Amino acid sequence: LTNHLQAEYDFVVVGGGLAGLAAGVAAADRGMRVAVLEKSATFGGVTAYSNGQLWVPGSHLAAAEGIQDSPQDGARYLRQLGMGFASEPHIQAYVTGGPSVVRYFEDAIGLSLRVIRGLPDYYHPDFDASVPEGRYLEVEPFFGERLGAQRDLLRTSPHQPYRLTHQDMWELGGGGRSYAWDRTLLEEREKQDALCMGTGIAAYFLAGAIAKGVDLIPSVVVTELVTTAGRVAGVRVEGHDGVVGARAGVLLATGGYDWDSRSMNAFEGIPGIESAAPPTVVGDHLRLAARIGARTTQLPKPVRLGYRLPGRTDEGHAMTGIFRHPSFPHAILVNRAGQRFCDESFYPSIGHALKIIDGRSQQFVNWPCWMVFDQEYRDTYAIGQVTPGDDLPAEWDVQSASTIGELAGLIGVDAEGLQAQVARFNSACADGVDPEFKRGARPWSRRSYGDEGSPVHPNLGAVATAPFYAMRPTLVGTGIPTVGLDTEPSGQVIGADGVPVPGLYAAGNSSALLETGAGYQSGVANTRSLIVAYTSVADAQKAG
Ligand SMILES: Cc1cc2nc3c(=O)[nH]c(=O)nc-3n(C[C@H](O)[C@H](O)[C@H](O)COP(=O)(O)OP(=O)(O)OC[C@H]3O[C@@H](n4cnc5c(N)ncnc54)[C@H](O)[C@@H]3O)c2cc1C
Repeated sequence: LTNHLQAEYDFVVVGGGLAGLAAGVAAADRGMRVAVLEKSATFGGVTAYSNGQLWVPGSHLAAAEGIQDSPQDGARYLRQLGMGFASEPHIQAYVTGGPSVVRYFEDAIGLSLRVIRGLPDYYHPDFDASVPEGRYLEVEPFFGERLGAQRDLLRTSPHQPYRLTHQDMWELGGGGRSYAWDRTLLEEREKQDALCMGTGIAAYFLAGAIAKGVDLIPSVVVTELVTTAGRVAGVRVEGHDGVVGARAGVLLATGGYDWDSRSMNAFEGIPGIESAAPPTVVGDHLRLAARIGARTTQLPKPVRLGYRLPGRTDEGHAMTGIFRHPSFPHAILVNRAGQRFCDESFYPSIGHALKIIDGRSQQFVNWPCWMVFDQEYRDTYAIGQVTPGDDLPAEWDVQSASTIGELAGLIGVDAEGLQAQVARFNSACADGVDPEFKRGARPWSRRSYGDEGSPVHPNLGAVATAPFYAMRPTLVGTGIPTVGLDTEPSGQVIGADGVPVPGLYAAGNSSALLETGAGYQSGVANTRSLIVAYTSVADAQKAG
């Protein structure tokens, strides 16, 4: 690893998550001298924390498994998801670019992907261009020894069981009962230093960048974009004299702005969101690009529920995890009226509903909210690292009572409303269908957010066994923002005057998610990072 910043490159990449590393690989592969400058001591960013799913309609991998699909069906699906907020050129760039970047990175760095069989990949089975499976891809295990002495440069996930593939996880019984998994495979994978999911994909790209001779520079902060005759031609780096030149251009791949509370409050539509991303993700791309007149775009996105991970910190900051727990049987989410307000097994349903404001009361209708659950839930499911039988941490402030009415009093929720809601939910569970919010009707929810070992239903089970509990979740960002730099489909950043800024590109979470508009589909964030990293490099080389 060079680790010495040179005075001049063909292409400079700011940020070493998936978008940044992929751009480094693509640039070096095209014969460009390229540096990836990363603020933290490790590479991988939020990507290394993620599930690592890619979402690619019409890949050769799906075709090889005999799955019928096409990029154009993917485009129809994205159009419906986007609700008119998505951009058609970006959709086209996504669906045509997806299958080709998969092939390209397989050849360029030996990226080894496979279809996640058995994961019904449609969030929206009711969309006319959904397919039952084949669009979700994940990496085959990467073995840490391939990184040699650079293994320490890789960020690893505190959120995911990254020694396992999705397939492994389901074969072991799924996420709901992870505490009861047979640990033989896990122990073997730990010995092998097997890296899967988001950590695995980051590892493939870190190894690829090293092999291609990319200058990977950790622990540096880019503080300014430097322009020459209106063209971005370099960057300034904290503690480094002079300008680092970038003959063909600069790519901003600094992720979102999760840890900048001012941006989060300004843009996300609900205040107080914490983050599951690394603390270095603070929106530097917005500040750097604003100073040279770049334009941003905002698109509606759901927020996620979170919970504090007791005793765990990330670079000195308290860590927040993703609160999937209300989707399992024997739990519901309620607002202060004691009413359910969403399909608890489908996070976009939760996350859009949380942002609704009632203009009469000038309050969020569904925030704060509480997960109300019963003893059967406590006896069956872990909450984070807390397995059944263990005490719940005091900092979660979980309340419990022997009746639902008493519990409502403890948390300040309307008691009659909550009692009636629990009764309605319990009778729906007896019928096995949820007429109010169709919870558990989506195949995706049953597999990804359910307990397939439940004797009744993966997502439905009565809240009926005393004592009863209530836990108040927090809000958490996953690095995927509502606001990003406005870009051409190639990745070139657009100025406030509507004209592309020569030499400036953005990829990954730094650029607005114009492919999905008002919706989100897991796997899109990682896939678009790869596509736009590739097209930015190609565009810069042509223009430079
Ligand atoms: C728990 C979880 C699960 C997820 N699961 C999925 C999934 O399955 N599929 C999917 O597609 N998406 C998923 N996501 C989201 C997805 O992983 C990310 O959106 C995506 O990978 C972001 O990639 P990126 O390269 O844009 O940014 P990041 O990976 O965040 O990388 C940005 C990098 O830039 C660095 N940086 C910041 N500022 C500077 C600066 N000034 N100078 C130098 N470096 C800087 C940061 O330190 C960071 O390393 C998940 C996210 C989470 C939290």
